[in-house]
Amino acid sequence: MSSIPEPQLSSLYQELILEHYKRPRNRGELEGGTVEVHMRNPSCGDEIRLQLRVEGDAIMDLRFVGEGCAISQASVSMMTTVVKGGRLDDAMGLAKRFTEMMRGDPEAARDRSLKDLRAFQGVSKFPVRVKCALLGFDALQEAVKRARGTEGSPAVPGATP
Ligand code: ZN
Repeated sequence: MSSIPEPQLSSLYQELILEHYKRPRNRGELEGGTVEVHMRNPSCGDEIRLQLRVEGDAIMDLRFVGEGCAISQASVSMMTTVVKGGRLDDAMGLAKRFTEMMRGDPEAARDRSLKDLRAFQGVSKFPVRVKCALLGFDALQEAVKRARGTEGSPAVPGATP
């Protein structure tokens, strides 16, 4: 338990984000996807289409296509590397944790389960950018809800088919 002040967007973190922006992981069309979600962040012009192949409670594969700022695209790229091959519950937990971190929760910012995604913690100081960083995770949560749609989870009011 140290009380070292939170760093600014350090150069290491900035490099990680730029690296994912320049060389996005899991980008492109997914063969045999079972769920697809399209999300936009009008305030910045970011767009993401996320496709998941869900079998049982596992995310067997996922891919995205999108355009927009470095933060939005790097965040979704990094997210895919963490949730790929994992369980739906873990993906939801990760999205919740990441959202908490982006809203300034210092405990979430120290959570190692976020892995490289902690690179985005400095972005939480820029409210306009928080939506960019969350776009991919909003899409992920929506996709998981839809994947569970047949399992009795309440439908999202107003969600487009
Ligand atoms: Zn953006």
